[in-house]
Order: sequence, then structure tokens, then C-alpha cells
Amino acid sequence: AKEAGRNAFRFFTPAMNLAAQDRLRLEGELRRSMDLGELMLYFQPILATNERRVVGCEALLRWCHPTRNIVPPGQFISLAEETGLIIPIGEWVLRQSCYQARRWLDQGYDLHISVNISTRQFREQDFRQVVESVLSESGLPPQSLVLEITESLVLEETEQLMEDLKLLTAKGLRFSVDDFGTGYSSLSYLRRFPAKMLKIERSFLQEVVHRRDDAALVEAMISLAHKLNMTVVAEGVETLAQWDFLKECDCDFMQGFYFSRPLPVTQMDAFLADHFKE
Ligand code: C2E
Ligand code: CA
Ligand code: CA
Repeated sequence: AKEAGRNAFRFFTPAMNLAAQDRLRLEGELRRSMDLGELMLYFQPILATNERRVVGCEALLRWCHPTRNIVPPGQFISLAEETGLIIPIGEWVLRQSCYQARRWLDQGYDLHISVNISTRQFREQDFRQVVESVLSESGLPPQSLVLEITESLVLEETEQLMEDLKLLTAKGLRFSVDDFGTGYSSLSYLRRFPAKMLKIERSFLQEVVHRRDDAALVEAMISLAHKLNMTVVAEGVETLAQWDFLKECDCDFMQGFYFSRPLPVTQMDAFLADHFKE
């Protein structure tokens, strides 16, 4: 397959050839990144809307590349998904996240940790077993773990998968529908998927203070979620006015640069020391 791939480059323009080579090199580097300890998690606080108390945080992956500096996930997650590298990387993220949340719990910070799970990871045969063994190894109570899944997933659900989801949910772990409102099957998704949380995609928040239509959509999403007994998180809160709006609409939780950017663990420790209240 490698030979065929190499020959295929002849048909590309020089610019595309370069892009393909760059991609190959990036893939090799990503493959080694875990062994080299270049992957890191940042944590972004999630706060209660009505009182600004920290209730949880989202783990966000960063790649500290030796020459490219810090590579944001937007630049390598899709490569990791296409190559299957997301399976070991995703498991690493889950394990690190659970161990870190356990440490915070031991320090008296009762937080939930939200972990992004890619569709490909989720569809692995042993997904449920991986989650269960990471929870028991780390000693993190399942109630403290939230798995964020994007909407596109539902198109490929199988009975086995739904069964696994129910088993995990029965243990107390929560699923969150990430980027809600951007997929094209949002509502039917909510009918079948046993999610306890819903996360409103940040593009809906951006103009919410100036655009009546966006405001109406956000309000409707929140009240819909509440009717379904789901907790709502708004992402991408950047201004006080957005926060005020979310308070008005009874949004449960929020996260965004207005409160904090994603932080490396030592800075998150400091943030917790300042902002965590029982
Ligand atoms: P996401 O799950 O929607 O994560 C939220 C993204 O919004 C993060 O970008 C975060 O830094 C950014 N963000 C948070 N608050 C604000 C704000 O107020 N304003 C703006 N402009 N942005 C804000 P990030 O860290 O670059 O991650 C991008 C995406 O990469 C994530 O989107 C998620 O889909 C994916 N990702 C990150 N970590 C992982 C991971 O461990 N596994 C998987 N499968 N995907 C991941
Ligand atoms: Ca997310
Ligand atoms: Ca998003």
C-alpha cells in the first residue's frame, strides 16, 4: 500500500505533493508523540451559571511539538481519526483525565471531568470495557465522569452500542451531546441517545446578545433540554452580557474565555484554589 501511495504522488501537482509529504511526516510524528511524552491535557473550568462556582472542567488535548510549538487539536484530531491513532490517544486522554479528576477529588474539589470521545473511539468493540477499567484503575466515581459525544455519531448506532451505553449510564456515568444544534439530526438524536447533558455549540452564543433569532434558538434549546431532564452547558462565553443572558434563560452551566481559557494543570490548580466554593 505504501508503494502505491508513493507512486500516486506522481499524479499530484508539486504543491499537493508537498502537502501529502507534510501530512505523512506529521502522521509519523503524531505516532511517536505519545511515547515521547509530547501530548498534554489542558483543562477548562465549567461553572454554575447562577453563582460562578466551578462544577467541572473539560479536558482538551494539546500536542507540544518540539518545533511546531503547541499544536491545537483542530490541526491533528482529524488526522488521528483517519489513521486510527485516535484509539490509543483517546484512551490516554481518558486515563489521564480520570486520574487527574481523582487527584482533585482527593484535594477536596468535587468536580466532574468532561472528556471528548471521537466517534471512531466510541465504535470500538471494547469501548465499554476500556471505560470501566479506567474508572476502576483510577478510582474515579462514575458520577464524576462525563463523556462528550458529537451528534454525527447517531447515524451509525448499533444495538450492541446502545446496550453498552445503557450499561455505562446505569453505573452513573453521564453522556453529553457536544456541539448541539450543528448536526442535522439534533432532535431525533435526543430521542434515542441516553444523554444527561447537552452542550450548546459556541457559534449560537456568539451573537446572542444582538440577534433575536439566536437568542430565541438558545432559549428554546435550553427549555427543550430541561423538559427532557437534561442539564445544559453553554460553551464559548466571552462576555458579561452573554453570561447575563444565560442567567435569564436558566442555563445550568457555562464555560468560556470570559471565565478562563483552557489551562495546564498547575494553573488549573491555582484557579480552583481561587474559585472553588462548596
Ligand atoms: P470542543 O469539544 O467544542 O471544545 C471546545 C473548544 O472551544 C476548545 O477548543 C476550547 O478551547 C474552545 N473554547 C472554549 N471557550 C471558548 C471561548 O470563549 N471562545 C472561543 N473562541 N473558544 C473557546 P480546542 O481546545 O482547540 O479544541 C477544539 C476541538 O478539538 C474540540 O472542540 C474537540 O472537538 C476536539 N478535541 C479537543 N480535545 C480532544 C480530545 O481529547 N479528544 C477528541 N476526540 N477531540 C478533542
Ligand atoms: Ca467538547
Ligand atoms: Ca464546540
